[in-house]
Amino acid sequence: MNVAVGFDFDRTLGLDHSLERHAFGDLAEQFGVSIDIGEERTADTIEQMLAPFRAAEETMPAMLMRFVATLPPNAQTRNLTPAGLAGRYRQICYDLVDQLVKPIEGARECIAALVAHGIPVGILTNGWSELQERKVARALGNFPGPILVSDSLGAYKPSAQAFRELETALGVGPEGLWYVGDNPVADIAGARAYGLRAVWLNREGQAYPDGLAMPTAVIERLDELPAIVRGA
Ligand SMILES: [Mg+2]
Repeated sequence: MNVAVGFDFDRTLGLDHSLERHAFGDLAEQFGVSIDIGEERTADTIEQMLAPFRAAEETMPAMLMRFVATLPPNAQTRNLTPAGLAGRYRQICYDLVDQLVKPIEGARECIAALVAHGIPVGILTNGWSELQERKVARALGNFPGPILVSDSLGAYKPSAQAFRELETALGVGPEGLWYVGDNPVADIAGARAYGLRAVWLNREGQAYPDGLAMPTAVIERLDELPAIVRGA
């Protein structure tokens, strides 16, 4: 049987160390405002601002205009346009990639091992395309397979449409397709609902949430993956 492996990216193959939260801090700084993104309440507030954007319920410019409106009155934000703001934010994010993005331990080796055994690999990640592509390149170098990003696909995990796009890109049927990710809802339950085999990367020994479709296999480290996929 033809087998292929799709991966989530964030916290599965790479870490971005809260890159977008850092970008909010750098953006505020451009307006002469210093915010401590490490402070818990500020961090929570920024994550809440990012949530609807990440869920494709709000555009980037709308999110950023909402953020700017929370800055103190002395912020130098006159003559800002939503498009100009988004342009600044995107550039700040790109500028942070080299500094913040790192591979997960064993990611490059795991991918190389799969490819060496003739197993096609792909990435299916929720996020905005250009940033996700830059993060993948920084963490993994030249990734040897398709990189599908939700914002370009117009389909977000855990939707069936997102996994269907991965299946098409990798050219195997659902019976041969494995999906590997850290997120029980978006990655594991989503892949299982679509009929794929799903490997939960549980690097921190967490309990699997009740009420969700169970993973086919659980690993703590990526170097466990090739044997599982090949043994199937
Ligand atoms: Mg993830």
